[in-house]
Amino acid sequence: MAKANGKNTYTYFEDSYNQMLTDKIELQSELRRAIENEEFVLFYQAQMDISKKKLVGFEALIRWNHPIKGLLNPVDFIYLAEESGLIIPIGKWALKCACKQLKEWSDMGYTDITMSVNLSARQFRDENFVQTILEIIEETGIDPSRLELEITESIALDNLEYTIEVIKELNKIGVKFSLDDFGTGYSAMSYLKRLPISNVKIDKSFLDTVLEDTTDQKIIQAIINLAYNLDLQVIAEGVEQLEHEQLLQRLNCNMAQGYLYSKPVPKEKAEDLLNSSDLMK
Ligand code: C2E
Ligand code: MG
Ligand code: MG
Ligand code: MG
Repeated sequence: MAKANGKNTYTYFEDSYNQMLTDKIELQSELRRAIENEEFVLFYQAQMDISKKKLVGFEALIRWNHPIKGLLNPVDFIYLAEESGLIIPIGKWALKCACKQLKEWSDMGYTDITMSVNLSARQFRDENFVQTILEIIEETGIDPSRLELEITESIALDNLEYTIEVIKELNKIGVKFSLDDFGTGYSAMSYLKRLPISNVKIDKSFLDTVLEDTTDQKIIQAIINLAYNLDLQVIAEGVEQLEHEQLLQRLNCNMAQGYLYSKPVPKEKAEDLLNSSDLMK
């Protein structure tokens, strides 16, 4: 087919481009099937209060249990889910699953923990978004004040007025919002004071080099000060080493998340973490 017009236009690049398209179309139909077959799972990563050495909540992180390729990370499929719009049903599934889990743990006596769920732009912009969240809360019977929704700066700033409206609507019933990957997006921060969020999450990239790079320390310090001045909680992401934790403690950052405490783990392992922490009422 590529040899149309009798000319030899069939090139290596065309070949690999066609292959890429085929792979993409195939992955997209697999994604569709994955929704029907319920091939997605949530992993949970502990969020810690490092001043009290206490587990305070979990972030739900999606995985795709692919029948042939095995367990896939979001980087392998979320972009395509977003591009194709399939993130709407997939994201809804993740929200519902996370809320069911929160309810289950609450019924076991862990009533004080929070559950954070990531949102993509398409989900947040969807006209049914608020309604969907309300329905999931109603259906699962969770305490809405234990639910935290994570959005990035780019989602928040793409129509700031609309963002504020949506967040306020959900704030009314107690749902909180976090600003994920903070510090990687926009340098103008004046919007922060208008955004009705509760937390900022310092992006992992600052922690990656902070022990060698004093500039990163200053940036982290500045983010922490800014957040506290605006009455926001700060969570540091990507805490891998004890030295990271010690630095955060020196900088007065109380909340942390990272491999030092736990990688994202399946439900059963998360329950082990809950059981070994001292949270039961
Ligand atoms: P994120 O929300 O910024 O999540 C943090 C990512 O950093 C996670 O990757 C987590 O496994 C990883 N991480 C946490 N601590 C450490 C650490 O100490 N060291 C290192 N090297 N990595 C750490 P993951 O699970 O691959 O998720 C990647 C992204 O995919 C998330 O970034 C989030 O933006 C997106 N995502 C995950 N689940 C969902 C979901 O249910 N819906 C949507 N829309 N997006 C999701
Ligand atoms: Mg997140
Ligand atoms: Mg993040
Ligand atoms: Mg991220």
